[in-house]
Amino acid sequence: MQVINESSLLIDIISTYKFQKKIIGLVPTMGALHRGHLQLIEKAKLNCDIVVCSIYINPTQFNNPTDLDKYPRSMTADLALLEENGCDFAFCPTDEEMFEKGNTITIDFGNIGKVLEGHFRPGHFNGVGLIVAKFLNIIQPDIAYFGQKDLQQFAIISSLVRNLNFNTQLIRVPTVRDKNGLALSSRNVHLSEEGKQKALTLHTSLNTAKNRILKNINTKDIITEIKALYHSNDIALEYFEIVNKDTFEKIISIKSFNTIAICVAAYVEGIRLIDNILINE
Ligand code: AMP
Repeated sequence: MQVINESSLLIDIISTYKFQKKIIGLVPTMGALHRGHLQLIEKAKLNCDIVVCSIYINPTQFNNPTDLDKYPRSMTADLALLEENGCDFAFCPTDEEMFEKGNTITIDFGNIGKVLEGHFRPGHFNGVGLIVAKFLNIIQPDIAYFGQKDLQQFAIISSLVRNLNFNTQLIRVPTVRDKNGLALSSRNVHLSEEGKQKALTLHTSLNTAKNRILKNINTKDIITEIKALYHSNDIALEYFEIVNKDTFEKIISIKSFNTIAICVAAYVEGIRLIDNILINE
């Protein structure tokens, strides 16, 4: 595996592979790699000749400076894992490489960028959109892989690719969980064992809500029940919403199970966790 820090070098290398008609796969990450990330690499290896994994903690997608400072970093271990898992190139640029000073470009994603994550993390999706657009331009992947764990992010990137005509197919990979159901996340390293137990509430509450929906219980009653569950477990809930899986608008009255996602964000031991579930997958 080759580690590359400069975009110009990566552009040169990729252009050679493109000339040879190789299929290029991209897996963008912020490092602190776990089995969730490795699942994306594994999928990419199935379909692509060349797999590029980016490791870059993008400062522009953090609305909270403390969150950025606290974000786990483990570059040496990450590179070893990528090598072991057959990644071809690790792209690890510096901030200076990625962003000009005084960068003022913003991408407005419309309503989908303003609800749920967009509402509670102002500017987050603009930062995500910007860095993904840069990576798509530099790497020109035929296929890019993202996790369902960040479902709204996937919708944002789909919008980016459609609206800006990127020639990249997007694949959404199901969320990888630990044996108890907790969604794997780089942020989980900050949780104590007790915190991890508490954090299971996210997964169990999503399953409870899904079962209630399948029994045609009305959405307002479901949300009230779930909010009470978080309250009794002493977990600070940021949102728990039943939404359209493409637009992320709230669903009040359910017409089809096919379009529904349930999304949650909550703080456990001061760590912000997110999770989601689709009704018909
Ligand atoms: P991150 O490093 O957290 O920004 O995530 C990089 C990519 O890995 C994103 O596409 C995430 O959705 C995906 N990812 C993170 N956690 C998981 C997981 N538990 N299962 C599947 N994909 C994940």
